Amino acid sequence: MKTVTTEAAIAVPPTTNKHLIRWVEKMADLCQPDRIHWIDGSQAEYDFLCNQLVHTGTFTKLNEKLWPGCFLARSAPNDVARVEDRTFICSLSKDTAGPTNNWEDPFVMRKKLKALFKGAMRGRTMYVLPYSMGPIGSPMSQIGVQLTDSAYAVVNMRIMARIGAPVFAEIDKDEKRVVPCMHTVGVPLAPGQQDVPWPCNDEKYIVHFPETREIWSYGSGYGGNALLGKKCFALRIASNIARDEGWMAEHMLIVGVESPKRPDGTTEKTYVAAAFPSACGKTNFAMMIPPAGFEGWKVWTVGDDIAWIKPDANGQLRAINPEYGFFGVAPGTSAKTNPNAMAALAKNTIFTNVALTSEGGVWWEGMTDTPPAELIDWRGNRWTPAIAKETNQPAAHPNGRFTAPAAQCPTIDPDWENPNGVPISAFIFGGRRPTTMPLVYQAFNWSAGVYIGATMGSETTAAAGGAIGKVRRDPMAMLPFCGYHMGDYFRHWLKMQRNLSATPRVFHVNWFRKAPDGSFLWPGYSENMRVLKWIVDRVRGRAQGKETPIGWTPHFDDMNWKGLDFPRETFETLQTVDRAQWKQEVMGHEELFLALHDHLPPEMIYERELLICRL
Ligand code: PGA
Ligand code: MN
Repeated sequence: MKTVTTEAAIAVPPTTNKHLIRWVEKMADLCQPDRIHWIDGSQAEYDFLCNQLVHTGTFTKLNEKLWPGCFLARSAPNDVARVEDRTFICSLSKDTAGPTNNWEDPFVMRKKLKALFKGAMRGRTMYVLPYSMGPIGSPMSQIGVQLTDSAYAVVNMRIMARIGAPVFAEIDKDEKRVVPCMHTVGVPLAPGQQDVPWPCNDEKYIVHFPETREIWSYGSGYGGNALLGKKCFALRIASNIARDEGWMAEHMLIVGVESPKRPDGTTEKTYVAAAFPSACGKTNFAMMIPPAGFEGWKVWTVGDDIAWIKPDANGQLRAINPEYGFFGVAPGTSAKTNPNAMAALAKNTIFTNVALTSEGGVWWEGMTDTPPAELIDWRGNRWTPAIAKETNQPAAHPNGRFTAPAAQCPTIDPDWENPNGVPISAFIFGGRRPTTMPLVYQAFNWSAGVYIGATMGSETTAAAGGAIGKVRRDPMAMLPFCGYHMGDYFRHWLKMQRNLSATPRVFHVNWFRKAPDGSFLWPGYSENMRVLKWIVDRVRGRAQGKETPIGWTPHFDDMNWKGLDFPRETFETLQTVDRAQWKQEVMGHEELFLALHDHLPPEMIYERELLICRL
């Protein structure tokens, strides 16, 4: 077998780690690629791979003047989102995976995977992609090596994680655990056979072996199915590691809220982490620009999707963002809704499944008020507003994405790569709830807060395959990402408090409550700063609250309304705790608890009883 064909690639394994070399050899024997390319992570290598992707038709290079360093990819129409029904947690016992995960006997699954991976990379290059989740060398970081036949996955991973030579050096330095990750698009090529722009297999498997900390992904080239550092490692496998080691791997954004300068010139900075399900505005919240009336306030971005959180020696929770870029939903992102994201994605960005303009730029629904007169849609077809009216087809896929370097975000926090993380003072949970849930309320205490997170619900979105717009329970926004039994996960959350000197305050928010006519009651986006400020003030012991059956809520006058003419009445409607609706809500909690009953911590039952009594 040939190793390497390009000047950018490295001719010999750039690692001395015998286990790694032996594993790569063994996997190459199984998958039978034509070539092995050890990824060094350099710019030259990235450019080489992008050129190759342009050559195979996967990438379109965008207009260098308008979108420097940017590319557009169109996926196969059946490979546009994570596939939760094809995602498996193959723990030794089915009980360990719990009822919210798909499970298969690990021996049976290994056999299946071996058969699927056998010869799967024929005619292709196998890339050996070492990556670090978290800053290289940070005590909070973890290392993975992904073997993949997808150059698209490699170039996206270079934006989303720290990759290449420095990571090989880390692996060689000490006996740090390496999580092995296998990935193939599952389309071997016969000799001389022309490749398609987006190879993928109709059959898909996204498989995790929690005990051996392994990931095997088959058949998809898309996002969370193929960029294995993200959901597969940083959440599903890491949640297992975190439970065993006493820390937390969460589906959370992290922001730092900085107050205006005080008379002595200092400011106060408060970090919070927030869990919202996929496509519920984590990226927008993470990059918020304070509205009029908040002069001097700043919101700093640490991460927009994943947080690894650990108590330090003093019992203070500290968090890192294990990622290096943003894999954000494009539709709805605009200079109005999220100017910081627009700045972050203005260059060196990979777009997937959005529309192409005639100038060689990109466009998606919501980017501008009026669409361009003519576009190539995400499927590669001609699109005009008139055609759209007839076919009812959007120009960009609703789950179209941008992969952008985090460092390009204008509000990136100066401490975002701090190897020791940032101190977390509050957790926020939230979902898409057209009814029932007030704009904001605070849990009475930690276990009540865990209950709020555990019973979180949200309408489903386009980020995963399946029906859209149905309320489902999504505990801590981790339903698709918790790599073990959800009941044990709640227990782990409850236990975490025991090692803390200061307990973070817990809040629930809902930007999506609707009036009977279907319109949103709350303007959202920048105006969410008003809610965030109340949260910070509560954390700092400054703000008033009103006790309700579900927790503490702000009075109208506890919020800063400067710069916004928001009717007191609408606020009262937004904050209504309707006892009839809440009785229904608690029934929904009961359903989840029944499913988890044999692993459910008793605290959850008690919290539910208390809530029912208060209602
Ligand atoms: P996310 O998932 O929207 O939850 O980040 C997308 C993906 O990783 O494919
Ligand atoms: Mn996510």
